[in-house]
Amino acid sequence: MNFETGKSHALELDEKDGLAEFRQLFMIPEPELIYADCNSLGRLTFGTSQRVKQVMEQEWGRDLIRGWNKGWFDAPARVGEKVAKLIGASEGQTIICDSTSVNLYKLVWFALSLSPGRPHVVSDTLNFPSDLYVIQSCLQHFTEDHSLKLVPSENGISVDYDRLMEAMDEQTALVTVSHVAFKSGFLFDLEKIAKRAQEVGALFLVDLSHSVGVVPIELDRWGVDLAVGCTYKYLNGGPGSPAFLYVCKALQEGGNSPIWGWMGEEAPFEFTLDYRPARGIKKFLIGTPPVLSLLALEPSLDILSKAEIENIREKSILLTSYFVHLVDQVLLPMGFQLGSPIDPNQRGSHVSISHRDGYRINRALIEEMAVIPDFREPDNIRFGWAPLFTSFVEVWEAVERLKVVMRERRFLRYSEKREDVT
Ligand SMILES: *Cc1c(COP(=O)(O)O)cnc(C)c1O
Repeated sequence: MNFETGKSHALELDEKDGLAEFRQLFMIPEPELIYADCNSLGRLTFGTSQRVKQVMEQEWGRDLIRGWNKGWFDAPARVGEKVAKLIGASEGQTIICDSTSVNLYKLVWFALSLSPGRPHVVSDTLNFPSDLYVIQSCLQHFTEDHSLKLVPSENGISVDYDRLMEAMDEQTALVTVSHVAFKSGFLFDLEKIAKRAQEVGALFLVDLSHSVGVVPIELDRWGVDLAVGCTYKYLNGGPGSPAFLYVCKALQEGGNSPIWGWMGEEAPFEFTLDYRPARGIKKFLIGTPPVLSLLALEPSLDILSKAEIENIREKSILLTSYFVHLVDQVLLPMGFQLGSPIDPNQRGSHVSISHRDGYRINRALIEEMAVIPDFREPDNIRFGWAPLFTSFVEVWEAVERLKVVMRERRFLRYSEKREDVT
């Protein structure tokens, strides 16, 4: 890809952008604000705003308890099937419930309980630390031999596949990675890992939080056994919207979820005294779903499916490659380093750049330059570019504003002391 550094090239890229019209579906009350944190919290769509109003006023307000039989009760499975289309899952394997952390716990526990005599979980140091905490807490409930084996990353950007493959053996119950690494944006080759996991007889669980809605995913075809993912990032479900989980058909008749609740019971309204797991994916439900935020998610999923994931990926690659070009031309001489893979086929939709003063530079961008990326320790500024509402001129402009922060040394006005949320 050949990019030029001037603004005119950004304008040309916008002209040719087949997804440009989707921007108008999002609420953008401050057009001068460049939002580069959609990998943490996506923007609000007008569809969601209207839908929530409707659910509040018509359904909850008027229908009251009758709402359950008018679409609320089925919502976890119905909305789950919409997510299924984005992750390459055939029917009956995907459901919306709980948070990503809780779903991860359920599926790690499930995998370990299906694999007696195999005490190891294999993951890597690029994985989201919270995912590792969840795994550690699960392991406590099994034997003393149960442990987590973490494969290190030499450069902090990409995984060493040879070491990952070697770490798996007949002691491995479960292999688990994040599809796109939260810090570097490294995109794992899931098919390759699934093949090796299968060879050694281990199960394979993937966290799709940073890839769903922006990278094409083929869970069934790749042979992934289990997956979880977040809906408030590129799926634009809103803060704290419920997560999803996927369990492949072949495993559904095996063990159970560690938490048995009535929504995962065969017939919740029979109120029998002993639990009987529901058939299929529903046994992974626990309790009452958060209906407002579950239904809030649907309009955005419809937009994503209309835009088509291949088009989204194509623009995502262009956006991140254009940004990497500008980083290379403009920011490297100012003391920044690229903290993400150079090859776009090995990246998701966010790019990290690092700088000794990264924390303060990020503060200055947010406080005075109307650019919102985020900061990840120790020195990374992450730019998440969502193809459905980001223009190439915004990417260009973000780099211009970053230049101002550096040239005028505006970051010196900020303290190194971290805010609660960075
Ligand atoms: C965002 C994210 C989560 C979020 O988990 P919550 O339970 O919603 O807090 C989990 N894992 C990964 C990899 C994430 O990127």
